[in-house]
Amino acid sequence: MSKRSVWVDTSGSKGYRFHDEHPFHPIRLELTEQLLRLSGEFPAAELIVPPFAEEEAEQAICKLHRHDYVDTVLALSEEHPDPEAVRKADAFGLGADGDTPFFPGMHAATRSIVAGSLAAADAVMSGSADHALHLAGGLHHAFPDRAAGFCIYNDAAAAISHIREKYGARVLYVDTDVHHGDGVQWFFYTDPDVFTLSIHETGKFLFPGSGFHHERGDSSGYGACLNLSMEPYTEDESWLECFGEALARAAAVFRPDVIVSQHGCDAHAFDPLAHIHCSMKIYREMPRMIRECADTYSQGRWIALGGGGYDHWRVIPRAWSLLWLEMSSSPLLKAIDGDSPNAALLPLGWPQLESPDRPDELPPGWLDDTSDWTPMPRRTEITAKNREMLAIALQHIG
Ligand SMILES: [Zn+2]
Repeated sequence: MSKRSVWVDTSGSKGYRFHDEHPFHPIRLELTEQLLRLSGEFPAAELIVPPFAEEEAEQAICKLHRHDYVDTVLALSEEHPDPEAVRKADAFGLGADGDTPFFPGMHAATRSIVAGSLAAADAVMSGSADHALHLAGGLHHAFPDRAAGFCIYNDAAAAISHIREKYGARVLYVDTDVHHGDGVQWFFYTDPDVFTLSIHETGKFLFPGSGFHHERGDSSGYGACLNLSMEPYTEDESWLECFGEALARAAAVFRPDVIVSQHGCDAHAFDPLAHIHCSMKIYREMPRMIRECADTYSQGRWIALGGGGYDHWRVIPRAWSLLWLEMSSSPLLKAIDGDSPNAALLPLGWPQLESPDRPDELPPGWLDDTSDWTPMPRRTEITAKNREMLAIALQHIG
């Protein structure tokens, strides 16, 4: 049976922009959309859904976040914010010198992102689509009372809460960003009807410093939280082995009604903010595994969001496009999965954007040619440590 896949319009979210040098930059969306267009894979107009209305997104934000925090975000969104609000910025994670600095219009820009994730959730839960993708979403580090890690409001948590309240469905949240999905985890830490699974580089070395295997949920939510804290320099095989086993086990035990996934693509070897050494292969395989799980347990229902990823030119456009190709069952995947690498080259003329930041050389294919990558010298040890971690993490699951 063919699945209907919709794309949530991200144009209102492009104002989510801290400043030109900030790694979380809307060029990530622009380049991805351009790659899909040149590949002939950008969705037709009838498959593009608009975000929710501002009012509904506003209500969702106020339910999820503390009022003093939302008031401060609003005050700091002014062109010339009140000095009193500026003084409070640090306490709410929005300090000008921090990693999530306040900027004019940030309330409205983040509200657009929340509105998009609510629309994605509704498209799937109402039955009008099987799959929905909202690439501007995935702000998984935001907490009820503060911003963190480039995230102001938690659109993933808003979408999940919306699904819980309006549809009463049980949600499996799968976070593939290299940073622990801490905000979403804590929002649902005691909720037995939301299972959170996050794979990330261990918090021993990377922001936000959490996501260890002993974090398993609390009270009636105990056991509905699974963390895979991977060793630095983990490569494709070990990453996919741990992810595949954990996802299969979590889905089989929890039997979700719907999967919500977050697709930060900063576990790639080129990413400047982390130390995992994976190739584009994981961004081909993880969406496929998630889709299979949705087909097996959730009648195909799958909502996907974006997330981190800071190699703007070489990684994000390919990784996020591959996600859409999987969601939309693109015939291009045949060539990408085939034995002939020449059949899986990126379209000629991509990228059509001149910028001083553009690297001189861009990968020519959808996947990486890793034949000239130096294997990690501690590969055996890293793989063994990851397996040990996985065994312990799975002990309390099913
Ligand atoms: Zn990240």
